Amino acid sequence: MKTVIFATGNAGKMREIREILSGDGIRLLSLKEAGITADIREDGATFEENAIIKACQVRDLTGQIVLADDSGLEIDYLGGEPGIYSARYMGEDTDYHTKNHALINRLAGVEDEKRTARFVCAIAAAFPDGRVRTVLRTMEGRIGYEEKGENGFGYDPIFYLPEYGCTSAELSMEEKDRISHRGKALRAMRDELAAEGLL
Ligand code: IMP
Repeated sequence: MKTVIFATGNAGKMREIREILSGDGIRLLSLKEAGITADIREDGATFEENAIIKACQVRDLTGQIVLADDSGLEIDYLGGEPGIYSARYMGEDTDYHTKNHALINRLAGVEDEKRTARFVCAIAAAFPDGRVRTVLRTMEGRIGYEEKGENGFGYDPIFYLPEYGCTSAELSMEEKDRISHRGKALRAMRDELAAEGLL
């Protein structure tokens, strides 16, 4: 059995990760479970770079196989903002109701066709022999005109999915997982790990 560390401190993410990546061949540990307390740098210019930087730092500290993710919301009309700064947009401690309203206001008067946006999730795997693998998946949608829905988190209430006629905050966890950037990226990474003979 191989140990694989997922470099996240987020318990909700770790639950989702366990559901998708668990297999007989691996013991999946969070940062905390692996005993890592060091601050992890996240100063890349892209989602992929950030995922690689995080995975490699923890790989170097532990010598284990390490996975890390980076995700966020890209709004085309705003040149891709908030992008890799999604969590830090308007400050890490600002609540999402405020952030969501600020984004709606920045798109005031913008017509439907120009409100396109996507959630992006990159996941990197860093192996002890130095190899790195990455996957990146997206969920396409549009920025809505008001917040809707109570499920999900973050920017979900303003992320409208035209094919479903609702926001991603109105989907059940299972429905979102099936179509989301993170669900798709985790399943793609599961295939990568399976190709390595780990699952
Ligand atoms: P990360 O933990 O550094 O990947 O931060 C990602 C940030 O992007 C989150 O804090 C949210 O602001 C945003 N984000 C990423 N995925 C989602 C999602 O599925 N729904 C809503 N917001 C998301």
